[in-house]
Amino acid sequence: MANTVAVSAIGTSAYLERPQAKPRASERGRGQPSKGGDSSQRRMPSRSGLKAGPDDTPPPEAGGQANERAHATTLPDGGLKVLVLEDDPADAELTARALRRAGIEAQITVVDNRAAFVEQLSNSPPDVILADFSLPGFDGGQALQIARTTAPEAPFIFVTGRLGDEQAVELLKQGASDYVMKEHLVRLEVVVKRALKEAADARDRIELLRREESAVISLRQSEMRFRALVQNSADIILTLDRKGVIRYISASARSVLGIDPETAAGTGSVDLVHPDDRDRSAAMLDAVVQRPGLHGGQDFRARRSDGSYAVVETVWSNLLDDPAVGAVVVNVRDVTERRLAEGLLAPEARLLDDVAGGARFEHTVKQIAREMEGHLPDMVCLVIVSSEPVPFVATGDRLPADTGYDLSRLMAGAGRWPWWDQAKIDNPMIGDLGSDPTWPPAQMLVTRHGLRCFWGVAIRGPNPLASIGALLFLSEAPTGPTPHEVEVGRLGARVAAVGYERYRAEEQITHHAMHDPLTGLPNRMLLLDRTAQAVERSRRSGCPIAVLMLDLDRFKSINDSLGHSVGDQVLIEVARRFRSAVRLDDTVARLGGDEFLVLCEGLTNDTDVMRAAQRILTSLRPPLHVTDYEIHVGVSIGIALGGTGANPEDLVRDADSAMYRAKERGRGRAEIFDTELRELTVARMDIEERLHRALDQGLVQAHYQPIVDLRSLRVVGAESLARWHDPDIGVVPPSVFIPIAEDNGLIVALGNHILTSACNTAAGWSSALGVSVNLSARQMHDLAFVETIETALRGADLDASRRLLEITESTLIGDVAVGTEFLRKLHALGVNLAIDDFGTGYSSLSRLKELPVAQLKIDGSFVDGLPDDADNLALVTAMVTMGHSLGLNIVAEGIETEAQLTALQSLGCDLGQGWLFGHALPAEEFSLWVGERVSH
Ligand code: C2E
Ligand code: CA
Ligand code: CA
Repeated sequence: MANTVAVSAIGTSAYLERPQAKPRASERGRGQPSKGGDSSQRRMPSRSGLKAGPDDTPPPEAGGQANERAHATTLPDGGLKVLVLEDDPADAELTARALRRAGIEAQITVVDNRAAFVEQLSNSPPDVILADFSLPGFDGGQALQIARTTAPEAPFIFVTGRLGDEQAVELLKQGASDYVMKEHLVRLEVVVKRALKEAADARDRIELLRREESAVISLRQSEMRFRALVQNSADIILTLDRKGVIRYISASARSVLGIDPETAAGTGSVDLVHPDDRDRSAAMLDAVVQRPGLHGGQDFRARRSDGSYAVVETVWSNLLDDPAVGAVVVNVRDVTERRLAEGLLAPEARLLDDVAGGARFEHTVKQIAREMEGHLPDMVCLVIVSSEPVPFVATGDRLPADTGYDLSRLMAGAGRWPWWDQAKIDNPMIGDLGSDPTWPPAQMLVTRHGLRCFWGVAIRGPNPLASIGALLFLSEAPTGPTPHEVEVGRLGARVAAVGYERYRAEEQITHHAMHDPLTGLPNRMLLLDRTAQAVERSRRSGCPIAVLMLDLDRFKSINDSLGHSVGDQVLIEVARRFRSAVRLDDTVARLGGDEFLVLCEGLTNDTDVMRAAQRILTSLRPPLHVTDYEIHVGVSIGIALGGTGANPEDLVRDADSAMYRAKERGRGRAEIFDTELRELTVARMDIEERLHRALDQGLVQAHYQPIVDLRSLRVVGAESLARWHDPDIGVVPPSVFIPIAEDNGLIVALGNHILTSACNTAAGWSSALGVSVNLSARQMHDLAFVETIETALRGADLDASRRLLEITESTLIGDVAVGTEFLRKLHALGVNLAIDDFGTGYSSLSRLKELPVAQLKIDGSFVDGLPDDADNLALVTAMVTMGHSLGLNIVAEGIETEAQLTALQSLGCDLGQGWLFGHALPAEEFSLWVGERVSH
């Protein structure tokens, strides 16, 4: 306990800022990787230390630093709470810097031992935990276990200098979210943001379930309450003669019906019954008199002394022949409340089902109003849920449909009315609409419909002390609500609350999916949707639309030299300028990185469009002030004008081509997509068309490049690579035609062709040789492709284990939902996967370990610099070690020299591929080549 150093936020910032930490970081950076030795002390060379050394100096603006410190100490609730478990102060500092650089506003607490870690978890639960793997007397596994029980919602990420061994993989299985190596801290941003998003999504789902559940529970409770109420109320016992005259009525008649038992005796029991029920009660009496014994109950309406009616359940016994009684005995029980409550169960269940079934919220409020009006005759129900910019408003069917005004618009600002009183949360509100002349809808309801009086109940929001709206019941004359009516109203309010909560969650999810989180602008998805709508409108109006592709000039250098958080601020400011440079109706979207797009409607000619572009160019002329920097940033604009028959994706593509032209011609300018560009596009379309024919004529063929075991240098298989030799235009490289085929969908036919050839060819090889086939993202969207694979395997009689499918890392991360289903089916077939171009994307380790992956193919660009490039050496080492810890075979691509081979061999890389061993050869040549090798 004595050595507990729980560093507070204040202490932490101060200590993170301390100047001597800097030289330490770079010292460590230059250190050589020590193989072996004390593992807890071993550190990989710090990549960020090496590369970003000069960058690590605190930015020149001292003010920025001071602000951050102030932020961490004065805003305990603001920012992200990050708990760092790390015993090395310099490493803690690097982590903090990486977070800052990523623009993540964090309140960082560093702890270096178990006691402090536990204390922090329970006293100040963090949003994220970043933990070193090895600490003196305490290891990552224990920390993870503690965190899983104490703070199960906080993502737990390992940030460690030790490479993932089997233990690390095991920890990921035990619930760690991810794993970042200290020499690759730039990944921290992606990893933390992804982990936070996953955690937030999970929380949203749970909250929604909880609310639905609580609605159901409160329903059950009210049902039970009514049961108890009814069971405790005294029954009335009546005895009648054959004619139905009351001989005796128990004293409880007074409390239940308000009747005096003395005066009631001797009167006809029929007088107590509602006129409409009298025939039934007479028939009942007849039947009872006919036959001795017990007669099942029926409900009747019984008159109370005040003229109202109670619903009573009756049980009759004929004891006329019983000498002691000599009468018909009727047991009467007041079930008014119970019947009403039973009547409410069905509609509440119905409404909740509707909500759970994903009904639109507009529909839900309408249904609520209808159900309410069904249960409360003579009242108009008005459901209002305050929501920006327009509240949800609905009435049932009692107000005429064509009122001539739009209720929702009138209701805008509903939340600000004085009678919207928090005190009314628990009690029904009662009021007079005519009394508030400042509320236009009220005047409308009074003057047009005579609905002056209202009572209502509040709709509780997520914060139970605040209302998010109300159900109002309007009538011409005042009617104080009965307890039953309030119960009905509350039912509606409960369902409205559940429905709204669900609506909000969905809204948030779609908003996230449709907007760029940094600038709040629409993203690519929403943009394409809006463009499609604009095209549709333009088709009707005949007015062309313009798409402007905006790409910042040299943004990368701002980002690289001033850091990501400055870069982000620049993007935010630029987005704001673009927004204010265009008209309100134009859409400004961020497509990603420093790419923006503006969609304009109603600009009729080139001059108009150029003028719009000019405004955008001018908007960036005044320098940007970000922190203490004055930044000049320019933009290049490409414009595509779409006539009535335009296709949104074509427009975006044309604008993109024009933007590149603008860059080529000197940046900071706008270009309109024109004939010359069209020619390039035409050339591309020519290739597209030829590719169609080439596929039909079998001109695209699979060639085979050997894959070699780096220990024995024996050939173990080959990768099939598509080759196209066109008689008219010569050899077209895959880097040209594969992307085109992916764009237009031809990749499916092409892929099937290569796949079938590869299977058939490989079936003729020695059974020791496997074959790898490349797979495009597009093919993974086609579940029928799994059958194609099955057919190809069966047709060629090729064992599934000899077949590998290569998919690139980026594809894997791209589409999770489709991908997972696809990969699951593949796995069922026994076909394994290789991750192609590994190292060029950011795979989530937790995802890799879930997939049927057998190989990692290290991208040739990493092999390129071996053995001299220290960065590449460190990365390849990391990839090999990590891959092995996951039980994967590692293949190095693009091996061209003996020196590269030797380096890879010494790193323990399993397989290799490259020109050093052989180029891709046509099927027959490859067979001969392998034959020779095998026979030697
Ligand atoms: P990839 O899958 O990464 O394939 C490896 C690429 O590296 C091939 O280029 C290969 O010729 C080249 N290569 C092999 N050894 C060396 C070497 O020692 N040095 C150098 N500099 N390069 C080497 P290629 O054939 O041009 O293919 C390019 C890309 O086209 C492939 O990259 C793959 O992504 C795609 N591709 C090729 N065939 C197909 C196919 O049938 N289907 C799909 N979907 N994609 C394919
Ligand atoms: Ca490949
Ligand atoms: Ca590759």
